Amino acid sequence: MNDDCIFCKISRREIPAKEVYRDEEVLAVEDVNPQAPVHLLVMPSQHHPNIAALSDRDDGSLVAKLLGVASRLGREGDGKGFRLVINTGPNGGQTVDHLHVHVLAGRPMTWPPG
Ligand code: 5GP
Ligand code: ZN
Repeated sequence: MNDDCIFCKISRREIPAKEVYRDEEVLAVEDVNPQAPVHLLVMPSQHHPNIAALSDRDDGSLVAKLLGVASRLGREGDGKGFRLVINTGPNGGQTVDHLHVHVLAGRPMTWPPG
């Protein structure tokens, strides 16, 4: 755990968030600044700074778990599809250094991303 990390605080229920899913390894919350009608963040309960760091440490099972939960949540929307995004590092647009998968749904997405 990382004392200064906002998502660790959400994981420990020290600051409030609208939780939509939680198990022993991962949780999902509504993004505080939604960019689509559905905008969820799926994250590991434990602190991992980004997907590259987790991939170096994990045997793949937690990565698979995160993507599985994110996909299931994405599918729960209007049935018209969804987008999963994992921003990584400064050029990847990551602003919170606790790994999270964005689940975006409920409107058509554009490509390429900005
Ligand atoms: P990133 O830019 O790192 O890919 O995404 C960080 C996301 O976390 C942003 O979409 C931002 O709106 C969201 N966020 C930042 N602080 C909080 C918070 O305290 N609670 C919740 N639920 N989302 C947050
Ligand atoms: Zn953290």
